[in-house]
Amino acid sequence: MRLVTFSHDGATRLGAVRTTNGRQTVVDLHSVEPRSPSDMLAFLEGGEETLGLAREALNRAPSAADLDLSAVTLKAPIPNPSKIICIGLNYRDHAAESQQEVPAYPTVFAKYPSCLVGSGAAIVLPRISSQVDYEGELAVVIGRRARQVAEADALSYVGGYAPFNDVSVRDYQMRTSQWTIGKTFDTHGPMGPALVTADEVPDPQALNIRVSIGDEALQSANTAQMIFPVAHLIAYLSAVMTLEPGDIIATGTPSGVGAARTPPRFLRPGETVRVEIEGLGVLENPVVAQT
Ligand code: ZN
Repeated sequence: MRLVTFSHDGATRLGAVRTTNGRQTVVDLHSVEPRSPSDMLAFLEGGEETLGLAREALNRAPSAADLDLSAVTLKAPIPNPSKIICIGLNYRDHAAESQQEVPAYPTVFAKYPSCLVGSGAAIVLPRISSQVDYEGELAVVIGRRARQVAEADALSYVGGYAPFNDVSVRDYQMRTSQWTIGKTFDTHGPMGPALVTADEVPDPQALNIRVSIGDEALQSANTAQMIFPVAHLIAYLSAVMTLEPGDIIATGTPSGVGAARTPPRFLRPGETVRVEIEGLGVLENPVVAQT
């Protein structure tokens, strides 16, 4: 299933996307099935049972329950996770373009939930920097509580996957050895359009990922190229901290970021950044100057 958090008529709701005769619509799951939670965290916490209810609800929802996808405002699929954990330098070619060694251990930093926005929402360029960059990434969302899990079992803790843009303010990021200050400006965590449930993604290490602006192709890779695959990351992180349903792991970006180009290519007002991951959809965000 493709789950979205959306707002419509002033209320924020949880929906599932369906396509009928080429028309993409959203069904408000809670309105069709009152036992289905109305927000994504509660939904994920409900596990298989909630997923089953939602599938049933979607199957029997009358067409009157369909809202045009273009008529709703998409939010980040999980607007309020307890954590967003980011992995740096997880593709060899990106480590090389950043003039960094291939790491022996995952490089871990944070973004905070205040930076999350959905597909279609603006990435705001702050007045205090002119070095705002894109990083297309696969986001992994935890589906059930994970503590000290083995790598072999790790993927069974995943609730779903989504495209993510780890928007980065390079001058702030590079001022200190800790990157977080440049990674968590407001609006700099675009995610979506939907959370695609794990059952629809048989192998998270076999997905093409592409970033473009207009007709400029900027990043193109496959998640097979990750240095530390998703299962390893979940095992590694869960040895340290309990991963809760809804927690997001942004798994790192491949080569082609703006800062590594000659000359550097930073985001400009009026552009739209597209992050496309095979089977997961397209995350699209316009870029605007702070007013
Ligand atoms: Zn990143």
